[in-house]
Amino acid sequence: MRKIFSAIAFFIFWQTCFAQELSYYLPDSVQYNPAIPKPKEIIYHNVGEWHVTHDRLVNYMQALAKAAPDRIKLENIGFTYEGRPQILLIITSPKNHQNLEQIRQQHVQLTDPSKSASLNTDAMPIVLYIGHSIHGNEPSGANASLLSAYYLAAAQGPQIDNLLEHVVILFDPSFNPDGLQRFSTWVNQHKSKTLVTDAASREFSEVWPGGRFNHYWFDLNRDWLPAQHVESQNRLKWFHLWKPNILTDHHEQGSNATFFFQPGVPSRVNPLTPTKNQELTGKIAKFHAQFLDRIGSLYFTKENYDDFYYGKGSTYPDVNGSIGILFEQASSRGHAQQTNNGILRFPFTIKNQFTTTLSTLAAAGALRKELLDWQREFYRSASSESAAYGIKGYVFGDAEDKAKTEIFVTMLRRHQIEVYSLKNTMKAEGLDFSSTSSYVVPANQPQYRLIRGIFDKTLNYKDSIFYDITAWTMPLAFGLPYSELSATQFNQNLVGDKITADKIIAGKVTGGKSEIGYLMEWSEFYMPAVLYELQNAGITTRVATNGFEMNTAGSNKKYKYGTILIPVSLQTMSGEELYNKVKSAAEKYGVTINSISNGSVSSGSDLGSSKFLPVVKPSIAMIVGIGVNATDAGEIWHLLDQRFNIPMTHLEVASFNRVELGKYNTLIMVGGTAYTDLNKDKLKTWIQGGGTLILTEEAVTWAAQNGVSNVVLKRLKSGVDSSKLLTYSDREQIEGAQAMSGAIFRAEADLSNPLAYGYTQPYVSLFKANKVYMERTKSPFATPFYYKDKPLQSGWLSKENAEAMKNAAAVVVNASGSGKIISIADNPNLRAFWLGGTKLMINAIFFGRIIDAGSARAE
Ligand SMILES: [Zn+2]
Repeated sequence: MRKIFSAIAFFIFWQTCFAQELSYYLPDSVQYNPAIPKPKEIIYHNVGEWHVTHDRLVNYMQALAKAAPDRIKLENIGFTYEGRPQILLIITSPKNHQNLEQIRQQHVQLTDPSKSASLNTDAMPIVLYIGHSIHGNEPSGANASLLSAYYLAAAQGPQIDNLLEHVVILFDPSFNPDGLQRFSTWVNQHKSKTLVTDAASREFSEVWPGGRFNHYWFDLNRDWLPAQHVESQNRLKWFHLWKPNILTDHHEQGSNATFFFQPGVPSRVNPLTPTKNQELTGKIAKFHAQFLDRIGSLYFTKENYDDFYYGKGSTYPDVNGSIGILFEQASSRGHAQQTNNGILRFPFTIKNQFTTTLSTLAAAGALRKELLDWQREFYRSASSESAAYGIKGYVFGDAEDKAKTEIFVTMLRRHQIEVYSLKNTMKAEGLDFSSTSSYVVPANQPQYRLIRGIFDKTLNYKDSIFYDITAWTMPLAFGLPYSELSATQFNQNLVGDKITADKIIAGKVTGGKSEIGYLMEWSEFYMPAVLYELQNAGITTRVATNGFEMNTAGSNKKYKYGTILIPVSLQTMSGEELYNKVKSAAEKYGVTINSISNGSVSSGSDLGSSKFLPVVKPSIAMIVGIGVNATDAGEIWHLLDQRFNIPMTHLEVASFNRVELGKYNTLIMVGGTAYTDLNKDKLKTWIQGGGTLILTEEAVTWAAQNGVSNVVLKRLKSGVDSSKLLTYSDREQIEGAQAMSGAIFRAEADLSNPLAYGYTQPYVSLFKANKVYMERTKSPFATPFYYKDKPLQSGWLSKENAEAMKNAAAVVVNASGSGKIISIADNPNLRAFWLGGTKLMINAIFFGRIIDAGSARAE
């Protein structure tokens, strides 16, 4: 009896204490289904007591889907780089679940002007995408998802029944599982039983690179448009499968702030986003204000954040007939932290995020028909707007780089842009577009606005302050030959078959096994992967520093600078084995390698000429760690590892100072402030001994200022006129305009320089988001890439920065002893979509050491 009594007492105590914890967050007017597990029953702690790990978050969502199958369907939408599942809950009423596919199909028809006119939106459910913590170290979103999901699974009564009847929710508890896991591990391991709120405590200073990023240190909230990462690719598939009307994006901001929700700064909305989008954002915002007022939380809108770059989660929906909403909660970072507003506790940050999910649900219910009608109107008006627009289509394609062309086509198709093969070979703007290797995108199609968001060049801006980059013109970024087609150039005769699947490029060796050698044309995107694989197998290779012509594959062919020669006689393996290895690499990477049947050239250097130089297998290390720009470093890691299967050591400064450097022949340093403690003498000795040092962005400045390179930096004039009377309140605008947020510049390229091997045009578009300006060298051969007097192609640029860019060097090569220093002032690898810069980066790695030291030293 006593046992039973104590069991009951414990149960009551446990319930009370439990209910109290959840009741801090949940609306008190609602009854909850007791059969639905509360978070603690699955994750072993109360919400906000610890930071939920991704594993436990997934466990909880699976438990909910199991306990409430009539409301929740769990989809596994893919896996992250670290193998974590990306899950999506589809939440709606039991009745809607029975017709889910039919509801989806009907909903998506709103985005198809050929079908949408007859649809009746009076009773159609609205579709919501609720997403959390794309920055893994902004955890209140993902932790709030425990509450939102519990609420949606367990709440009872007519209010929730009515809501679920009219709403289909796509619910992603964690946009960035790898980052969330990394961050939760950090803060949980530093938590004290007696919470320490001192902001200086280690709990609040995560170790480099931090949980913000995905596995390769990328900011996934810049990848919605480039979509080069698996997380984005999986997510976009579901975005377009369902075409949500609202997408919420729960973030965190600095600890001393309050809570932000969109709309953002009105003058910083992308001009392609219709006004109506911002009107509706404003209407939805009224619900957030009302719900936050109810719990007494302070907030702000229309400041700090913008709606400009379509690669962000809260802006991408705006150009897809949807409304993207950014939430920014002040971060407690750890469990509780002293701030200007007192102690900010983790549970409070979670509560605000949960509350704005409730306000979004209320807004969706109330504005349902208006939002559905807007989606239909958005796509209907695309046709009339494109009719009034001067550009009728775009043609693009690189016959010498088929793989890169295909990566671009795949990117477009991820956004449901219709791409067609080019029916007839054509010429535009002096470029030849072959029907076998080019594509055409007509402007008049439902995704008209997004197409412009991808192809447009912009030189005029309403505002001169940007939260992120100011231009991202994709064909320039990819380095693809392309042309905008006017009404006189564009016609239906150009439009071939619609592309409906990713093209697999078959690799081969033309001409079969050779007794002489094989030739690889360097222009193809995946050639570096092929070259490394062959080198790694012990195969000796040569690079052509001259052009030549010879008969291969049955016809006379011009081979350009940078062609790779694999001579049979120089190998230690048999001709048979060599052929098998060459063939297998060609097939693996989808490239064509030509077999040489007759060793004589019809013009240019003979194969035995000293103009064919040995290519040394790169052995690469990159400096990483505190003070190194993690995204810049991550871009190089991703490029080498994911695209080319080339390994690279990550060296912290302390390790650099300690290890034997002789095992590396290539060292990479990217932007950052990490290099103060780096042993400069050790670095210089290593270069003089034959090492190749590759520097990008601010590392260029560091090397120039520390006597490592001979680069001469340009002095920048101040943009603030001290002779003028300026008001204090204007300072943000005046200083902001001087920032280099990121714009696109055309660099001229010397195609005969080893750093330009593989480029097919004598120019390339580079991306600059820094103030590193280099003077050209006295020797013209040491500046293989440079800017002319007006290099800006797209983006915001102040007068002072334009002056500094004028005739500047983009890339400078210095020699030191038998080594080389290659300074690249810009970022050739931006966000994994700047494939126009890939050859430059890769050439520095493979061919940097063969650049003629004599001419470079003439500097
Ligand atoms: Zn964020």
